[in-house]
Amino acid sequence: MTNTFQDVGKWVHYCPGCHTNHTTGKECPMCGTPLKKKLLKGQSPSIPVNE
Ligand SMILES: [Zn+2]
Repeated sequence: MTNTFQDVGKWVHYCPGCHTNHTTGKECPMCGTPLKKKLLKGQSPSIPVNE
């Protein structure tokens, strides 16, 4: 099975509560808000990521 996830961009987990991006997780480690997935198009996203 070969999917094309790498071609469409990069999924990040976005916190609508405190407006931060996370590489993984279901809840924001800072405010506890459930994270939403957001697709970033492009191969080299230069977003600030808080882990
Ligand atoms: Zn948050």
